[in-house]
Amino acid sequence: MGRKRTCELPFCHGVVEGTKNKRRCDNDRNIHLHQIISKSVRRIMRYLENHGEVTANDVNHDLFKGELDKNEKGSMYRLFQAMVRENYLVECGKKDGLKVYCCTKNNKPENIEEKEEVPEVEEQPQESQPAPIVIERRLSPEEILLGKLREFVHMKSGQWNHEDWVWLLNRPDIREFGMSENDIGRLLEEEKARYWLQRNNY
Ligand SMILES: [Zn+2]
Repeated sequence: MGRKRTCELPFCHGVVEGTKNKRRCDNDRNIHLHQIISKSVRRIMRYLENHGEVTANDVNHDLFKGELDKNEKGSMYRLFQAMVRENYLVECGKKDGLKVYCCTKNNKPENIEEKEEVPEVEEQPQESQPAPIVIERRLSPEEILLGKLREFVHMKSGQWNHEDWVWLLNRPDIREFGMSENDIGRLLEEEKARYWLQRNNY
């Protein structure tokens, strides 16, 4: 048989099974991406890798001159969700009601010490937009694991059975953290509680 092919989405590790004309893995096959998004995947990735915390609005503003329509933004959202699933992005809370994403392949240097001291001088209010706040740091292993658990909770809409739990525990990308079943269970329960709290508040 032919050699294994990986998903056409560059951040995805999924393997494409079956006939030659399939280009995406099973997870992504049904994700509909508008043309402008699908042909910009690499550009978007480059952007994500070179910025700290990013919202969909930032990408729309900086890469698409803010011109994406509602459907195209929906495409970008689906792309981000696939990136989260692949642990290429991690959700890092919210800003202005929008999800904030951090790229786990962030290229930003960590030289926080080399930053210039900001003098405490009152300045005239600037007319131009303030520069976005960029938090330069890498995610800790615990944060990455938390992102994966949060993704699991969302994927299962807040409820799962024993089989799902065993599947989660046996995932290589979960096992690699070397955390005990009990600890994972505890973190997962916290994520679950958070999920339901959020869901019941809307
Ligand atoms: Zn894929």
